[in-house]
Amino acid sequence: MNEQQPGAANHEAFPLPVKQQIDHVRHVIAVSSAKGGVGKSTVATNLAFALQQLDYKVGLLDADIYGPSIPTLLGVSQRPEPDVMGRIKPVMAHKMPLMSIGFMVDAGQPLAWRGPMLFQVLQQFFHEVRWTGYGDQLDYLIIDLPPGTGDIQLSMAQQVEVTGAIIVTTPQELALADVRRGVALFNLAHVPILGIVENMSGFVCPHCQQSTDLFASGGADRVAGEYGLPVLGAIPLDRNIRHCGDEGLPLVKAQPESTLAQIYCDIARKLVDRVAARAV
Ligand code: ADP
Repeated sequence: MNEQQPGAANHEAFPLPVKQQIDHVRHVIAVSSAKGGVGKSTVATNLAFALQQLDYKVGLLDADIYGPSIPTLLGVSQRPEPDVMGRIKPVMAHKMPLMSIGFMVDAGQPLAWRGPMLFQVLQQFFHEVRWTGYGDQLDYLIIDLPPGTGDIQLSMAQQVEVTGAIIVTTPQELALADVRRGVALFNLAHVPILGIVENMSGFVCPHCQQSTDLFASGGADRVAGEYGLPVLGAIPLDRNIRHCGDEGLPLVKAQPESTLAQIYCDIARKLVDRVAARAV
């Protein structure tokens, strides 16, 4: 994809979006990363289950048009169906309502929408899902955004009333340069940034228990300090996280008592605190 700097983006191909609330949802949290492969979807999924473990009502919306991987991370193969009102009913995955943009195309087909067509599909995707029953609402809807800081991400951030965004990054300097672009994107879209999550932060050898900073260390602290943002947490590179994703059961659900699950739960608690602090 041809990425553009947010400030210099050419928006002629996109109708000007109007921010809309998502029905029956109190807080929309966008999980983003400036580049792919940093573990954004894994963080989004485990964060959703961590919030559920803290007794919040949570839904998960996979908007990663470049690689909608959450159905795989949750071992889901069935498709959503319409409810009696014709709105889309999310699929239940381990008691978590899930909607993925991948459900809107046939398996194995590329998502080939562009410009106004993509905009229309996204409108439907964001606003025609029925998240809960009448009179009921979700506390948190976690949206997994596509990686990058271009027009598509900007357009998405401008279509939905988002409570706040989380930026996922690895600790190395190259990834952090992109984080700065991510911060600029959300500032442009008037979306508050709730914090940064450092993923793949140190590798603990399962044989000798020694920790190695494969992707350097302390990077997220540095960039967060530049913008006065909190680091919500640092998740190590751990084969259990990868293994659980491959098995279709996120680590927080598979090993809820583990140290790793506690790291995700701490991030969820800090997120809740940040949301509460912004609301007063
Ligand atoms: P992204 O959404 O940024 O493209 P994914 O969440 O799909 O990245 O993760 C890419 C791969 O990295 C997946 O195989 C996932 O299981 C693995 N992964 C993510 N975070 C970790 C981690 N902290 N430790 C080990 N593997 C991880």
